[in-house]
This record gives sequence, C-alpha cells and structure tokens, in this order.
Amino acid sequence: MKIKKIPVHSSKREELIDITSEVRQFINESNIQEGRLTLYVPHTTAAVTINENADPTVAQDIIFALNKLIPRMREFRHIEGNADAHVKSSIVGCTQEVFISNGNLLLGTWQGIFFCEFDGPRNRNVILRID
Ligand code: ZN
Repeated sequence: MKIKKIPVHSSKREELIDITSEVRQFINESNIQEGRLTLYVPHTTAAVTINENADPTVAQDIIFALNKLIPRMREFRHIEGNADAHVKSSIVGCTQEVFISNGNLLLGTWQGIFFCEFDGPRNRNVILRID
C-alpha cells in the first residue's frame, strides 16, 4: 500500500483542474505494476471526477451545467453562503477509482482526472492510495 497527498491550488471559485500528470507521476514513483488507485478529496466543497481532457471546453461545460443545475440561491439555509458548492461536491463525489495495469493507469484515450473546485480560490489536497 502506498499513499500520497498532493497539493492543488485553485485560482477561481469554480474550476476543474487536470491532475492526471501528477497522478501518473505517483504511479511511476510507486513502481507498482498491478493494482487499484483510489483518489480521495478531503473537502466539503470540492470533488474529483474523470472526464475528457483533450478538449478544455468539456471541463468548462461541466462547470456551466453544474451552475445551471445548482445556482447560488437565497433560499439555501447554510449561513456560510456556499451551499451550492456543498451540493455540487456531494453530486460529483469525493472519490474515484482507477485500475493500474503494467504500471499504467487504465484510463481511456480521452479521459483525464480532474480536481473539482466549487468554492475557490483555495489551497486543497487530493489523497492518492494504491492497493
Ligand atoms: Zn459551507
């Protein structure tokens, strides 16, 4: 079992940040050939997702659609004013799993791993674990 916490620095309130290369670097450093990578985001207003990273407009459209679905509304009761970010975090989810085979992540050709910021800018972390 190998575990690592990688820092992520967001610069906008809502932002999808491609962390695929940092994750691949961790897999390479681990020298593990076969296994399972778990990604975990220990925050209540952030998430992790896997989607297309070839065309950057896909990440922009995901943010656009989430903001349409879950706008910042006065009707929310959470006094901190970031209830929309908490809801987006729960909908997208704080964990993902990817298989490792022959020392490589088994991602599809167009897939990348994104840290999802919903209440930035902030300094965040993603926890990676290989089993
Ligand atoms: Zn809050």
